[in-house]
Amino acid sequence: MVASSVEPEFRGARRRLVEALQDKGIRDLAVLRAIDQVPRHLFVPPTVRHRAYEDSALPIGSGQTISQPYVHARALEQLMLTGKEKVLEIGTGSGYQTALLSELAAQVFSIERFPALLDKTRPILQQANVRNVSILLGDGTLGWREYGPYDGIVVSAGAPHVPPALEEQLAEGGRMLVPIGDRDEQMLTLFIKRNGKLEGRDIVPVRFVPLIGAGGWPA
Ligand code: SAM
Repeated sequence: MVASSVEPEFRGARRRLVEALQDKGIRDLAVLRAIDQVPRHLFVPPTVRHRAYEDSALPIGSGQTISQPYVHARALEQLMLTGKEKVLEIGTGSGYQTALLSELAAQVFSIERFPALLDKTRPILQQANVRNVSILLGDGTLGWREYGPYDGIVVSAGAPHVPPALEEQLAEGGRMLVPIGDRDEQMLTLFIKRNGKLEGRDIVPVRFVPLIGAGGWPA
């Protein structure tokens, strides 16, 4: 769980962000509560900290971005988490969504391919007192077989198709979000596994950085 020792000056800004997300149609109370709890300002570089509670994507280094809070919220509400689930996240990035997931699920497994990002993210997750998260450095398109199957999978980078290993590691009845499209623009797609097959539904157009790996785009 995330510590409550957040700097008080950010509390008002975070509350206003939650209200802005409600105005934009986010209704899931658990998701809104998680956004109200997680100190996003810890997860962004100091140079953009003053913009931490704007509803916008921000640079986090290594050419990567922390997604817009609205996109996180739209994605997370599709997972319909109750707090008991085991979730796999591909693309830890800043760790912000990882921290949101830690508020919404029982166990979170997260994979990132950039060592430099993880070097920054691990201590921030510790500082935020996030405890139910395991992190792996590697190619997330291969999943994390050891702990699967997963009730939920969130892919936070744009893919040409669903990586086969992730389809395999999704539990029956499980929900998986993958931005599907080209390297610049994608459709965030919700897949639900029924009778061993994925059923997909379009959620919202998005622009994620590419998913690079064996089951994604070439580097
Ligand atoms: N959700 C993150 C956050 O809250 O900061 C933002 C993720 S950023 C849009 C996408 C991340 O996916 C980047 O950090 C990128 O390095 C990572 N990524 C891309 N391909 C990957 C792969 N095959 N395995 C693991 N991570 C990958």
